[in-house]
Amino acid sequence: MTEKFCNKSAEETTFADIEQNYRYITENIAEAMDKAGRHDSVRLMAVTKTVPCEKINYAEKLGIKLLGENRVQEFLGKCENYSPDSEIHFIGGLQNNKVKYIIDKVAMIHSVDGIKLAGEINHRAAAHNLVMDILLEINIGGEESKGGLPADDFIETARAAAELENIRIRGLMTIPPAGGDEKYFAQMQELFENARIKYPFLSGMDTLSMGMSGDYMSAVKYGSTIVRIGSGLFGYRNYAK
Ligand SMILES: *Cc1c(COP(=O)(O)O)cnc(C)c1O
Repeated sequence: MTEKFCNKSAEETTFADIEQNYRYITENIAEAMDKAGRHDSVRLMAVTKTVPCEKINYAEKLGIKLLGENRVQEFLGKCENYSPDSEIHFIGGLQNNKVKYIIDKVAMIHSVDGIKLAGEINHRAAAHNLVMDILLEINIGGEESKGGLPADDFIETARAAAELENIRIRGLMTIPPAGGDEKYFAQMQELFENARIKYPFLSGMDTLSMGMSGDYMSAVKYGSTIVRIGSGLFGYRNYAK
């Protein structure tokens, strides 16, 4: 595919660059959807880690209403300055003892990788009288260095989580191994579709969160419904995470 992109550091990236990047990304997504013969929709999420609020709110004004947060502390420091029109999802690794800080500030948690975390989210959601949407994170490459549930036995966790009244399993999320091998996206699509058909407690899943700056067109090809873009929109970060 003829992926268009702009390659600047976050410091060099101007508002005009963000607008240009946004245009490239939406064109790329449309092209990937077209090639895959998809007529549903893909949501573009702006991943905000290390990005100053002015740039986040600029992206929001361009039309990106969905924000992805990785770090509880950074998020809490910034969120009061976000546009009230933003929808915020938590996408990073989440410790049980931090759930209480974000439970009433986010609309979805993508990174649920065990029943203990699901239980804590359920408990805190109940205290706020809300039902939290969650995604189960799958470690599709089976990498030791990464979080996420193993693809071959995530059902056990899903079954237990589905029993909890104050969470709702909306779908699956993954961060595949680096290198861009499309097979991981194909495996995720299969896992997602099969689980919906086979397990009644997962039949309501409608969200497949996969694809980042380097691989979102491949993810769209294999059915992603949310692509999570940081550096492709705001410029590359000079330190990892
Ligand atoms: C940082 C991050 C992204 C975005 O990564 P980019 O390569 O900058 O687009 C997406 N998802 C998660 C979970 C992340 O931590």
